[in-house]
Amino acid sequence: MKLDVVQLTKEIVAYPSESQTSNVEVTQHIAGVLDQLGFRIEEVPYTDEAGVAKLSIVGKLGTGEGGLALMSHDDVVPANPADGWHRDPYDSYEANGKLYGRGSCDMKGPLAASICAAARFKAADLTAPLYLVVTADEEVHAIGAQKVTAHSKLFAEACIGCGIICEPTSLRVVHAHKGSLAIQVTAKGRPAHTSTLKGINANLKMIPFLAEMKQFNEQVLSARRYRNEEFVPPHSEWCIGINDHNRATNISPAQSICTLNYRPMPGIDVDALIDTTRKSAEKHGLDFALKHRGEPLYTAVDAPLVRTALKLTGCRKPTTVAYGTDGMAFVEKMKQMIVLGPGDIAQAHTANEWIQTDQLRASVDLYARFIEHICV
Ligand SMILES: [Zn+2]
Repeated sequence: MKLDVVQLTKEIVAYPSESQTSNVEVTQHIAGVLDQLGFRIEEVPYTDEAGVAKLSIVGKLGTGEGGLALMSHDDVVPANPADGWHRDPYDSYEANGKLYGRGSCDMKGPLAASICAAARFKAADLTAPLYLVVTADEEVHAIGAQKVTAHSKLFAEACIGCGIICEPTSLRVVHAHKGSLAIQVTAKGRPAHTSTLKGINANLKMIPFLAEMKQFNEQVLSARRYRNEEFVPPHSEWCIGINDHNRATNISPAQSICTLNYRPMPGIDVDALIDTTRKSAEKHGLDFALKHRGEPLYTAVDAPLVRTALKLTGCRKPTTVAYGTDGMAFVEKMKQMIVLGPGDIAQAHTANEWIQTDQLRASVDLYARFIEHICV
């Protein structure tokens, strides 16, 4: 079956599957295409924290063991027309060799490319299976990927083989990326009219902890043990947010919430990072909550998949990136993964997001070469 990658990208961009809304419709559309291509589909549905229905799918073509998984997400970050979109973000259009639209680059274009590559093969052609993984909520701590990792039988099977996360890398071979860590620390006070001096200001309780975290941040940005030279930049920072959600300035703030985000790299002792933060919070009488922990992705530069990728792309050596992907969740079970896809991450999450159409088409050929090499 022949599919056109630009046409298919347009079709799936047309669903405004922003992460705070449901992705069920667009995922069912994709499942329908995969079904026509002969894939067996496993659904991994769930309801998110806000009560919105979400759906991830794993498709399998062919039989046998090992093989290749091509992995993408179909949620997108919000597109606010006030951010300077020239046209409807979900009515994609081509101009100057580019396809514009929310998700064209991150990552419905790359997802469409993986499907178009798969469309060139029939189950009977394959000696090892081909899997297509499409997740919800990648932009929200990779929750869809966490569910797939925990519950999908087909994904567990796919982990015997290797995987490509098709996120935009300008077709460079990425063998490692940083993880993510999210912590929330809360101080509780007592609200009262500030004229009475009867309140307890939660922000004041937070200040000693913030002073310690400022020092800790200076350490993680300078000390050798928090450094990994394989990455640019070789350090990560504590991104420290502070919010009291106070509704009037003459009420003593009843709560103070500190959000802390960090991007761990391989070789960094994440347990120690969490522990130091927890102890500091407890010392100052604050509530500590670990919100999310996503592992860094790391596949050795001499792993067979990386060597194959260098050969098929013509890249001289693999590289690393500072952003995370669904790999943060998949890495728990899948040991050989790379990130490789069309488009530049610089265009992701922007107003008037675009992807170069020639790169999109080149990636269809490239993914087909991977399938040929690993599954045929
Ligand atoms: Zn993405």
